[in-house]
Amino acid sequence: MKRLTRLRRDIDRADEALIEALAQRMDRVRRIARVKAALGRAVLDPERERQVLAAAAQRAMARGLTPEAAQRVLREVMAVSRQWQARCGTESGAAPRVAYQGAAGAFSWIAARTHFGGQLEPIGFATFAETLQAVATGSVEHAVVPVENTLVGSIHEVLDELAGRDLHVVGEEVVRIEHCLVALAPLPLERIRLVLSHPVALAQCSRFLRSLPGAQCRAWVDTAEAVDRVRLDGVPEHVAVASREAAELRNLAVIATDIADHRENFTRFWVIGRHPRQGCGEGPPCTSLLLVTDHRRGALVEVLHTFASRGFNLTRLESRPIRGIPWQYAFFIDLEGDLADPDLAAALDEARGHARVVRILGCYPRSLFPGGASVDGGVQPHPATPPPEPSPPRTTCQVRANATAPLGSLSRYPERTVIRVGNVEVGAPGTFVVMAGPCAVESATQIEAAARLVRSTGGVVLRGGAFKPRTSPYTFQGLGWEGVEALVAAGRAYGLPVVTEVLAPEQVGRLAEQVDLLQVGARNMQNYPLLRELGRCCRPVLLKRGLSATIDEWLQAAEYILAGGNQQVILCERGIRTFEVAMRATLDLGAVVVAAERTHLPVLVDPSHAAGQRRWVPPLARAAQAAGCAGIIVEVHPDPRQALCDAEQALDPEGFAVLMESLGLRGN
Ligand code: PEP
Ligand code: MN
Repeated sequence: MKRLTRLRRDIDRADEALIEALAQRMDRVRRIARVKAALGRAVLDPERERQVLAAAAQRAMARGLTPEAAQRVLREVMAVSRQWQARCGTESGAAPRVAYQGAAGAFSWIAARTHFGGQLEPIGFATFAETLQAVATGSVEHAVVPVENTLVGSIHEVLDELAGRDLHVVGEEVVRIEHCLVALAPLPLERIRLVLSHPVALAQCSRFLRSLPGAQCRAWVDTAEAVDRVRLDGVPEHVAVASREAAELRNLAVIATDIADHRENFTRFWVIGRHPRQGCGEGPPCTSLLLVTDHRRGALVEVLHTFASRGFNLTRLESRPIRGIPWQYAFFIDLEGDLADPDLAAALDEARGHARVVRILGCYPRSLFPGGASVDGGVQPHPATPPPEPSPPRTTCQVRANATAPLGSLSRYPERTVIRVGNVEVGAPGTFVVMAGPCAVESATQIEAAARLVRSTGGVVLRGGAFKPRTSPYTFQGLGWEGVEALVAAGRAYGLPVVTEVLAPEQVGRLAEQVDLLQVGARNMQNYPLLRELGRCCRPVLLKRGLSATIDEWLQAAEYILAGGNQQVILCERGIRTFEVAMRATLDLGAVVVAAERTHLPVLVDPSHAAGQRRWVPPLARAAQAAGCAGIIVEVHPDPRQALCDAEQALDPEGFAVLMESLGLRGN
């Protein structure tokens, strides 16, 4: 027995020396990273690695070891070195500021430290929203947030918060969650009276906690803060469930370890950055996507098939409701694949043809040491997938004519896109939609009367500006959010989807929760931050042509939205500035014809802003119909004499009815 103890002590000493050597090696690795970054050299140097492995093999043999064993250990060590070098190199040696939710010792804090190899300035925030916002505003370089746990599933709040922000997943870390019982000082378990922790942690340890005879459990904001609370309480019988690190940082005692009901308790964290990662780096690649499919049978299957048919393995599929669009869902998907792989690019291309939104959240390497699983023999959170079977031959409809052409171009997607605005299809063959309503929402009564008029005369979408981009700052600027509310109420009362103009990027998220179609006005066609924000939203966008924009510029503006992920763009010709000043603008019907040749997106015409006078609106509308557009958006007011905005061009109820008649669209 003594001999065994002695031998074990020798092993412990050898392990210590091993860890000490590893620490020294990592220190040099960090310095080399800085030198490599300064010289602009790549992290991986295959020749140098070969030399190191050859030397190790020789040394191993001289010591009576098999060369393979030594090489295997060294390969692992070098893989970790490269990972660290890649991370340090991007920060040019400076410790990055990393946001996380909670207090020091929280599992997010542990994930952040593991990911950045201890070289970081961790900054704790109270909520996930604040944590992510810190990255968005640039006050930190990265955030580390939990996305899923192997026992409780998805962390929904993180997914929802991420969906609305211009942020990217640049890495992942998997941490084994080892819950410990933390107290001021060691005490017998029977004496425990109160256990504090995050509700999820309490639930995960329920079996153990039930075995404590006199203990009561109380939910706390997070595990590490529960330890803070125990320390502040100063009551020996009060304990917390938290990480070992949370206890050690506060000099408290760990009185029980590994108390969770299941040992296989892992949390996967995402490392979030402001910019997409350049290249997937070391480790097996993972791509995370946000998808919104059509609300019809088989729509999700179609999109998933684009990945499956090319042999891409999905490792996660999570659905979240879309706020403001009941019963429709955003799908968060992770798949094993590199964005740089042409096959994945082809799958995404095809997916865009089937889905409303295909947004790339990030492409990053899978965590190399997932939660210590490879160290302590636990389960591998992401088992390696066997190589894919050869893909079946692609059908003709899957092949895109020109995979490098713009996303909006007909040469990339030869089929015409039909866009659903509420229950209305825009661009469906043989249809002609009429969106109508006042220039501006002026009051609840006015928009309600307008909705009644539009509905009874055969219009299918209700328009009304709440945020008005007026030429003069002294004229009526719109009712703002109050106007949006009135518009939505009127639309709902008469069963009409609604469209309103969005002026600024910060309005997009809130407006998208309420209205069915977001209009980008002519003055904002090249407002790129606005277009980018719309690329991240799940609602369709009506993109008006700029006052002096060429067709190409207009299509490129649409491309911003498509490239961001949102495939639902309707174009709208509304007249341009030319030398001719008789009408308010020159309606360029040629653009409708040319656009139909170049893009698969539907094109509407706004005859009102081109004409400027109500008597010219009907002939322009009929000409637009003859030119082959998908429909019109027209200004109609229950009483144009009272209109606060664009009064001269607003059709009155009778004029609108006559127009509808002449377009061959009868009222219902
Ligand atoms: C409008 O539709 O009320 C409007 C302001 O249009 P445009 O941006 O085309 O001028
Ligand atoms: Mn107007």
